[in-house]
Amino acid sequence: MTIAPAIAPLEKTPLEVYVAPDKPSLIGASRAQLADMLGGIGVPERERKMRAQQIWHWLYVRGAQDFSVMTSISKEVRGALEQHFTLDRPEVVTEQVSADGTRKWLLKLASETPGERPHLIETVYIPESDRGTLCVSSQVGCTLNCSFCHTGTQRLVRNLTAGEIVGQIMVARDRLGDFLGQTRATGPGLPTEGERCVSNIVMMGMGEPLYNFENVRDALLVTMDGDGLSLSKRRITLSTSGVVPNIARTGAEIGCSLAISLHAVRDDLRNVLVPLNRKYPIKELLQACRDYPGASNARRITFEYVMLKGVNDSLAEAKELVRLLKGIPAKINLIPFNPWPGSQYECSDWEQIEKFSEVVFNAGYASPVRTPRGRDILAACGQLKSETEKLSARERMSLRAMAMTD
Ligand code: SAH
Ligand code: SF4
Repeated sequence: MTIAPAIAPLEKTPLEVYVAPDKPSLIGASRAQLADMLGGIGVPERERKMRAQQIWHWLYVRGAQDFSVMTSISKEVRGALEQHFTLDRPEVVTEQVSADGTRKWLLKLASETPGERPHLIETVYIPESDRGTLCVSSQVGCTLNCSFCHTGTQRLVRNLTAGEIVGQIMVARDRLGDFLGQTRATGPGLPTEGERCVSNIVMMGMGEPLYNFENVRDALLVTMDGDGLSLSKRRITLSTSGVVPNIARTGAEIGCSLAISLHAVRDDLRNVLVPLNRKYPIKELLQACRDYPGASNARRITFEYVMLKGVNDSLAEAKELVRLLKGIPAKINLIPFNPWPGSQYECSDWEQIEKFSEVVFNAGYASPVRTPRGRDILAACGQLKSETEKLSARERMSLRAMAMTD
């Protein structure tokens, strides 16, 4: 297979800057910001912390979508809140449910630039019997240009705010009846064990989370708060294509699990697949992984490796992968390439993936192959693209057939 030369620019610049609406949503604000917002509408200082705590509970434990349900808060304060703030999450435009239970929501962000088209992002829910993983987006588009990724072909419109990131979790929990006092959704593929439908978060949707570090961090700190959404840092995994300087910050300021999109074992190939490699080559990236705080055998770093036929899937490369990762507490996640309309790569043959996986396994690594989920609704890795391309009926059917035969 011929590979396109590495001429793609390294990074894109955002086209837009977020402008906050006059009536902001409380979703995604930190406790301190919430207390300040209350100060701004005249709540006396001595009450602010307590009121912020009450609101926090209504938002993140009970999933309140309306101030009127917040019965522990006086009518007067509720009225003032209503006047100045909303509880808006991104708006659900469409909900697609795959044959395997995967759900994909196309979400519309509050439009903030007059004359601009509203921005659409996607959030994907992947259920298993004992857990449910939500794949969350961090940008509208992506700063980077990985050649095998559908999102990479899109322009970077802007970074998501912390509220828009937390908002995706809120939408999923709203739709799945996952808040205290709600009726939990049932249906094919949904988890039957465990307390919650959404039990894990992966920052693996659209965008490069470490190019939107502060908002991603603030959103995850809200998500990890034990009196609220209460998802522990062990159940949150941030995937990066390798923004080396922000890997250490992720360890220090978030503390969640880390996944690295490696995809190649040589710089010349990785420069093409993940052009950011030209800025942060493999050696520097792996050093940042060795230095990642908290990495241990119990908390391994996941290395993602997309299987591209005839490009990166030889057994020599499997051996080199094992050699490179020596000394790093690692898991290796082989991802069958998910095709998208216009993509220039093919997925490796199943037999080759198995052989590759065997080399990795024999070297002592668990090497689960990530089963493609929700292919029939273009919900699998790297297929997310907000301006959802209109697929022909034939393309839809062939994707569905792939999902059925996996
Ligand atoms: N930007 C981050 C997180 C989002 S991408 C990152 O690159 O890590 C999530 C994962 O999907 C990454 O490992 C990415 O390399 C992989 N991916 C992208 N396009 C893919 C495709 N078409 N098939 C399979 N995996 C893909
Ligand atoms: Fe962006 Fe990740 Fe896609 Fe690369 S793989 S273009 S970093 S979303």
